[in-house]
This record gives sequence, C-alpha cells and structure tokens, in this order.
Amino acid sequence: MSENCESVVSLFGRNVFNDVVMRERLPKNVYKEFKKTISEGRFLDTSLANVVANAMKDWAIEKGATHFCHWFQPMTGLTAEKHDSFISPTAEGQTIMEFSGKELTQGEPDASSFPSGGLRATFEARGYTAWDCTSPVFIKETGKTITLYIPCAFCSYNAEALDKKTPLLRSMDALNTQAVRVLKALGNTTVKTVNATLGPEQEYFLVDKKFVEKRLDLMLAGRTLFGAASPRGQEMSDHYFGALHERVASYMHDVNMELWKLGVSAKTQHNEVSPGQYELAPVFATVNVATDHNQLVMETLQKVALRNNMVCLLNEKPFAGVNGSGKHNNWSLVTDEGVNLLEPGNTPHDNMVFLVMLCSVLRAVDKYAKLLRAAVATAGNDHRLGAHEAPPAIVSIFLGDQLTDIIEQLAAGGAKSSKTGGQLKLGVSALPPLPKDSTDRNRTSPFAFTGNKFEFRMVGSSQSTAGPMFVLNTIVADVLKEIADELEKSSNVKATVQKILQKIVKDHSRVVFNGDNYTQEWAKEAEKRGLPNIKSTVESLKTIMDTENFELFKNHKVLTKAELKARTEILLDAYSMTLNIEAKTAVNMAQRQIIPAAVEYSSLLAKSIKNIEKVGAEAGSQKKTLEKVCRLINELDNNAEELGKAAIAASKIANSAKKAESYRDVVKPIMAKVRQAADGLETMVDAKIWPLPSYAEMLFIK
Ligand code: ADP
Ligand code: MG
Repeated sequence: MSENCESVVSLFGRNVFNDVVMRERLPKNVYKEFKKTISEGRFLDTSLANVVANAMKDWAIEKGATHFCHWFQPMTGLTAEKHDSFISPTAEGQTIMEFSGKELTQGEPDASSFPSGGLRATFEARGYTAWDCTSPVFIKETGKTITLYIPCAFCSYNAEALDKKTPLLRSMDALNTQAVRVLKALGNTTVKTVNATLGPEQEYFLVDKKFVEKRLDLMLAGRTLFGAASPRGQEMSDHYFGALHERVASYMHDVNMELWKLGVSAKTQHNEVSPGQYELAPVFATVNVATDHNQLVMETLQKVALRNNMVCLLNEKPFAGVNGSGKHNNWSLVTDEGVNLLEPGNTPHDNMVFLVMLCSVLRAVDKYAKLLRAAVATAGNDHRLGAHEAPPAIVSIFLGDQLTDIIEQLAAGGAKSSKTGGQLKLGVSALPPLPKDSTDRNRTSPFAFTGNKFEFRMVGSSQSTAGPMFVLNTIVADVLKEIADELEKSSNVKATVQKILQKIVKDHSRVVFNGDNYTQEWAKEAEKRGLPNIKSTVESLKTIMDTENFELFKNHKVLTKAELKARTEILLDAYSMTLNIEAKTAVNMAQRQIIPAAVEYSSLLAKSIKNIEKVGAEAGSQKKTLEKVCRLINELDNNAEELGKAAIAASKIANSAKKAESYRDVVKPIMAKVRQAADGLETMVDAKIWPLPSYAEMLFIK
C-alpha cells in the first residue's frame, strides 16, 4: 500500500464514535446491550446512557474536544447546533469534565426562533432534541473549537416535529414495518428489518472568492440575479468529465480528507456539464445517516472552498443560460441480511420479491406523483425543472427495455422470460467484448431505475434529502401495506401476488416513460395519459393538503395533519422569503451599482460627443449608443422602482399561499424585466466602469 492510501485508511472515520471505538471503549455487556437497543429501535435507558456518555466524553477529550452539541435539522433545511462545554465547577473552585447520559440523549434548545409554521406560538419556547442513536456521534473541528456532535431529532413541547429528521425516522419505521410484513408473507422467515438506503449525488459550482465579494446577489441570494451571457458557455461539452484543474483537484482533495475523517465515504468526483460545475457522490448509506452525511457534505464543500479562496454555490440555478445543479437521490431497500430488494438478479421475471417491490414503487409514484413533486418544490428548483437540464415537472418512471418488457408480460397474465443484454463488440481486436447491461440509462427521467436502485433526479442541489426521502419512504410503505394486507389473508400467495401485480401494472403503467423527457411531445403525451404537470412551486405546495396526503401521513404515523399543515406553511413562506430577498437585492444592485455605472458611462459619451462635434467631426455612433444607454437606464430605473413596490406589496399579504402567488405572478416577472435592462446595459457599458464581475470571468475558474 502506498503511504497515501495507508494514511487514508487510518484517517477514515477517525473522528467518529463508531462501532470499532465503541467495542474498544465500552464494557462488553454495555456494548452488547447498546447495540441491541439500537437494532431494536428501543429507547436508551438512563444507566446505559450514562456509561455510553462517559466513554464518549473520554474519547472526545482525548481528541481535544471541550464542548458537545446537539446537532439537529430545523425546517430551515440547514443544521443547527448549540454548544455546551464539558466543564463542571467543583466546590474547591476547580473544574472537572462531565457528560451525563441525559445530556447525551436529550437537549432543550429554545425553539422560539425556528420556523414552526404556526405549530407553536412564539412564547411557547420549549423545544427538545433527542439523540438519533442510529446515526453515530462525531467530532468536528471548526477553527480552534473541537466539539462532540450528537445527531438529533427536534420537536416541540407537545412532541410535534419541528425538523426534517423526525418525519424521516418515522417514515423509516413505517417502511420497515410494511416491508417486513410483505417479505414474511412471501415466505421469508428470517428477515428482521428493512431499511431504505440513500446515495445522494451532490452537484455544486465553484467561483473565485474575489468575484463573489463584488456580487451582492451571490452573497445574499446564492445566485446571480444579473449577468449577460458569456460568449463561451457549455456548448463545446468540454467541461463534463473533463480533466480536473489543479486548483479544483486540490480543493477536492481537502474536501475528501475532511469528509473521510467524519466517516463520510466521499467516493466519486468529477466535472459536471456547466463550466465551473462539479459533483461529489458518497457511497450510499441508511437514509437517515446518508441525510446527516449530506448535510456535512454541503457544509464541508462550502467551508473548504473559503479556505481555498473560492465560494461553493449550492443554489439550484447560480447562472442563467447554463445548467443548474441537482441532487440525485439514489434510493433502494435493504434487509438486515444485506439483501437489496431492488436487485433484479439475472432472471428478474421469476424474482417475486423484486417484482413486488418494483410494482410497489410503480404504484406509489403514480398514485402520489403530486406529493413527490411537492417534495422538490422550492424557489430555486423552479429555475431548473423543465429547463432542458433537469427533468420536467412531470413525474414519470424510466424502467428500461428489460423491465418494461417484464411488466408488459405481467399485465398479460404472468412474466415468463427476461431479455438479456448480450455483448458489446467494439470492433477493435485488442479490446475484449464487454458484457452489455440489459438496460440502457436515461438521463432525462425524473425517476429512473438504474440497475438495482431508483434515482430520484428532481431533487434540488441545496435541499435537505430528508423531505424527498420521507415522502418516498412513506408512499412506498403505503402500497406495501395494501399488499401485505392482501397477502396475509391469502391462501394461495403466488396466485394473489400474480393478481396484485397484474392490477398494479394495468393501473399504473401510464407512469412508465422510457423516452426523452425533455421534449414537448412528452409533455403532450403525459397530458393525454392524465399525468400531472405542476410547473410552479406555489401550485405544487398547494396540493400537499389534499385529503389523501394527510390520510397517508396520519395512517403511517409520519406526520399529523397539524404537522403537515405547518410544513406547508413553512415551505410557502420560504418561497416568498427567497423571492423577497432576491427582489430587494436586485433593486439594491440596480439602483446603487448598475444605474450609477451606466450614468457615468452615458456622461462620458455625452462629453465625448460634445468634444467631437466641437472640432466639427461626426459622432453618429456615439450618439446612437448614448441614446440606447439612456433608454435602458430609464427602463431599468422604472422597473427597479416597480420591483421594489411590488415586493413590499407582496410581503404585506397575510395568507401564505396568496403571498407566494403574488411573488410568483407579480414580483418574478418584474424581476425578469429588471434583469433584461441591466443585462442589456452590461453588453454596452465600458467594461472598466461595469461594477460586477462578468459571467465569462466567474464561470471559468482555473
Ligand atoms: P451515476 O453514474 O448515476 O452518476 P454515481 O456513481 O455518481 O452514479 O452515483 C451513484 C450513487 O448511487 C452513489 O452514491 C452510490 O453509492 C449510490 N448507490 C448505489 N447502490 C445503491 C443502493 N443500493 N441504494 C442507494 N444508493 C445506491
Ligand atoms: Mg453521477
């Protein structure tokens, strides 16, 4: 092993209180009891928690930690943390370092300033954090502060979920319960648990910090609100998978090192389609741990970028005219025996478990397409979905040739065979024939089967994976419940399965689409098939409170009606607030930077015209330019004023849906007009006077 590899092996998970550390540090009986508690999903009792906490504290202190914190994921979509030191003063005026079981398992941060969507009044401040002991505790080094992090769920005084993690954990329970029932009914006598797995591919942009510092839009809104197109964009397709530039490669190295220490298995890295765009994918993990890890990935990408004098942009659409960023959520189901339930094997047609799981997903995704769409509805994602770089807002499933053929057979009465891939011959004698996959890929599909998992490709790059994943888990659990209910009372399981699958395929094959999702023809065809095409976030969020959805979440104990309603309010508010910030930033930049620069240029032109004419020469060109510049200044000035007023008017609307609609229908179109005038000016005004770094400068980081 090279020195480099060796160091990575010893580095990986160094800051995680993982299984190896626990086995080393906990008394044998405690370790066993603790593992059992985790695997059975029971509550940790106090005496056990005390021993575990003490071992954790010793480990953390040896690593230089002075503080611990409950780390949770409020509805902001980001993480939150409140640090406490281990110190405990003694009567003699000294201190000892203490950490109790209670401090480990439960915290009481003040909840009053987190979004609650009306779940509690501001004065009802108490909030609770509870350790999710299935996600390991870890140490994070931030500057000089070294802290023990405890991944937590966060709820109100009335046990209502105030975070993204609680419903995710609840949905995992629901999925586990129903999937195990189905497996048992299908004859599996040994299975104990089924977990959802997630591998999120994270896309991001890097921009040199010196440019970001000059752009209020990037600093405050995370995306450019102005900017004429660069003469060179992504049309040469030369960035995608291109050789990494040295500066970026070094950055990726630093990111990997940080993540590996935290036990995040960062695996794949490459250049993405747009110049300045990149991707990182970890090895998949159980969905709650993967969600925690994705938060660490986003945070680390940003933190390490700053150290390298760059800024990492996670926004879905940092630059107009080139691709935006998504977060492909690869999702599957795995048993405690390590069996991937979405693994088709060589003969999927007679793999009953696989077919049941596949058809369950088919029914769930079609039945709850609107809910799945709502799970990815954000202001940022509105710029991306359907914009020829990401799937449209129509939810459909790509199955590929082999599985499509099988479900067609199922519909006709039973699957008897599976198409195989054969071999790929490259026509070069030195290259061996490659085994060909039975199914091609489809990059345009919002929900694609990719070999042994589904890839939900509509998720936005800045989103927490918790929302989309708890929706997916719950809708699949719901269908599995229906199937388990039928199978458990059946006297002929095989025949019943046959009947169920046949019905599912007949009812839901409309959601299967293997063609190009980016085309207009598909939009028309989808409409004919009756598939919803919900284009805007506001419209989509309004569907969340449909009766079938709160029944769904209530039945599986994932969210109460009040919790669901609160979430909808929070999401609508987030939409409005995002647009409000963007509008105010655009007005500010237009009035304080762009117009003054254009005015300066126009007076230069005016002076030059005067001077030229004084000596009796023609200044036709300059006059034409001056007129155009003045017209655009006028336009920009009027539009900016209108935008400011529209944003204020929208912000005063009390009803959250109406408010969001006003931002969408009134504010957003004016913002587009403001941009158009400003971008027009950018193409004319002297580059030396123009106050903002251009797309051409920002996009080509080297
Ligand atoms: P792509 O070729 O689609 O870009 P990547 O290699 O970039 O694929 O990412 C694929 C992701 O899918 C990785 O995070 C990988 O760990 C994850 N993945 C693989 N198998 C599973 C599974 N069974 N469940 C969930 N995620 C998985
Ligand atoms: Mg990828």
